[in-house]
Amino acid sequence: MEERIKTLVADTIATIQQGGGKIVGTVDAQYIARRVNESLEALRAFHPNVSPSRAKRILNIAGNSKTGESFNLPALATCPTGARLAKVEGTVCSRCYARKGRFIFANVIQSTIATYAIVEAVLRDDTLRGAYVATWKAYAKGRRMIRLHGSGDVYSTQYWALLKEIAAACGGTLFWLPTKETLVASDRAIPDNLIVRYSMAKVNAPSDVASDGELISIVVDAVDYDYSGTFRCPATFNPTWQGTCNDCRACADRSKRVIVYRRH
Ligand code: SF4
Repeated sequence: MEERIKTLVADTIATIQQGGGKIVGTVDAQYIARRVNESLEALRAFHPNVSPSRAKRILNIAGNSKTGESFNLPALATCPTGARLAKVEGTVCSRCYARKGRFIFANVIQSTIATYAIVEAVLRDDTLRGAYVATWKAYAKGRRMIRLHGSGDVYSTQYWALLKEIAAACGGTLFWLPTKETLVASDRAIPDNLIVRYSMAKVNAPSDVASDGELISIVVDAVDYDYSGTFRCPATFNPTWQGTCNDCRACADRSKRVIVYRRH
């Protein structure tokens, strides 16, 4: 585990530096290993009466300036499509927000890597998996919406199956999943409360590109963009919202087929 964490640390730092970012602080691989072990021990000793706050700690759910809380993985290292797009000028991923801002802070990097390492351990162990899904259920209880992947994406079919299992176990909560993975966006065998929104790769993509039934999001910076038939994200278009979602849940609303974000 520790060797794997060291590799993830090196990869994540390289990814941020390639994007022009400079890490603030020192990423401590031993701290990450301790944090992962703490969660895995808690899962091994799982009790169904686990409190939501304890469940949040075990899952390593992070604070998010936009949506309040978010489940985050390392950017690009867990983005099969995004990592390819990052090398292509004019794509959203070429200026990935998860390689700058708060994502360059050592504590945030440590947190995303720890979350990823916990998920990897859970995927290798069916006993842990049952406790992990039940811990999500405890965390989700009473929550209207949970954002998956403030950074990162669905990096494997095994992980995608786990996410679907989690959503199915937490029927009273909406899960908003933005993704650039077409296999995920085209999967129709998903729980009703799992709202997959496909993020268009190109900045200023036209709003009529979505196929039937598909939910999409588009990042725009063009002054003459045609917004007809779209919903404009108030967190990015309305300065008084100061980049936060407030009580907006449009991204998890199937009636909003095309959501447009202003590039930041
Ligand atoms: S559309 Fe609404 S829910 Fe989606 S990011 Fe913007 S403010 Fe948040």
